[in-house]
Amino acid sequence: MAGKKIYLSSPTMHGEEQEFIKEAFDTNWVAPLGPNVNAFEKELADYVGISHASALSSGTAAIHLALKILGIDQGDLVFVPTLTFSATCNPVVYEKAVPVFIDSEKDTWNMDPKALRKAFEKYPDVKAVIVVHLYGTPAKLDEIMEICKEHRVPLIEDAAESLGSTYKGKHTGTIGDIGIYSFNGNKIITTSGGGMMVSDKEEFTKKATFLATQARDLARHYQHSHIGYNYRMSNIVAGVGRGQLLHLEEHKAQKKALYRQYEEAFADIPEITLNPLNGDGDANCWLTCMTIAPESSVTPNQIMDALEEQNIESRPIWKPMHLQPVFAEYDFITVMENGCGEEVQESVSEDVFNRGFCLPSDIKNTPEDMELIINTVRKCFGR
Ligand SMILES: *Cc1c(COP(=O)(O)O)cnc(C)c1O
Repeated sequence: MAGKKIYLSSPTMHGEEQEFIKEAFDTNWVAPLGPNVNAFEKELADYVGISHASALSSGTAAIHLALKILGIDQGDLVFVPTLTFSATCNPVVYEKAVPVFIDSEKDTWNMDPKALRKAFEKYPDVKAVIVVHLYGTPAKLDEIMEICKEHRVPLIEDAAESLGSTYKGKHTGTIGDIGIYSFNGNKIITTSGGGMMVSDKEEFTKKATFLATQARDLARHYQHSHIGYNYRMSNIVAGVGRGQLLHLEEHKAQKKALYRQYEEAFADIPEITLNPLNGDGDANCWLTCMTIAPESSVTPNQIMDALEEQNIESRPIWKPMHLQPVFAEYDFITVMENGCGEEVQESVSEDVFNRGFCLPSDIKNTPEDMELIINTVRKCFGR
């Protein structure tokens, strides 16, 4: 193995984080509540332009509580994109509800509105839709919102990967009924681990905070009328988040610059196409991904191996959920056409999974790191 390790996307700390943590220690607010928690909620809500937020222990917890708040119950159907990280759909199964996986479309790799329409025809009794903005690229929200409104079904936006991305001028996560963010270690900003639920409806975020703190009724004697969870964010973790939030715009600019650099560096290799950025939005470019043309003899595994030999981390595209052993029993809806009405052999999600992978997208990469990554990829194509 050569050289230092180059990461896919590792935390980038700035120093302010420690000041907020120090304040928490100095005032002994070392608990899952405190001034940093309240301030982080307000500061994040202000940043994305929404009125209410609830700081939680993870993005997964936020999705779980979103489902609880929307009343998702045993046997209820929930539409979920198939091309995502398993954390999007695990909480559906926590509630013994039933995920139905929806294929992607080519323009954004996100939930295909056509497949969503088809799914509503097959399952008109569905109770909720979760949309994901994969790798930071906003989904086709106008079309998806319209379909959800037509059927009066609530939309949860899993914006875990897209904090800072906007769609038609609005932040992803603030457009559906409930939005969720993640601050896991490799996300665009991190608290080491954590999440946030946002909504314009105060009753939703209030209920999230209530359920996240063991659902204690307003009584001195520890009375409970609901099953609660221990999902609240700690005041230490929130301090890290407050410091990181000061640098979110800067991280976004650096992530976008990485994407542009890859785009330029591979412009002369027609077999390479980078992941789509929705033209109706401004993507945060959390991870830059690429696909290899079907006619090329180069495979994603070849390139990932070549990078690994140089101690460079890369990652496959999320394996579609409908191909996962643990979700094998659930339905998958796809239109299987190429946009010109012609039938195709492979769903879009499987095609992207088979031909794509995620390039190292760490904003701390030096010009030398980028040169090594780019040259390693170029060599695989004989350049
Ligand atoms: C990271 C991620 C989550 C989960 O967030 P955690 O904070 O790790 O629980 C959910 N959905 C997607 C699409 C993610 O990438």
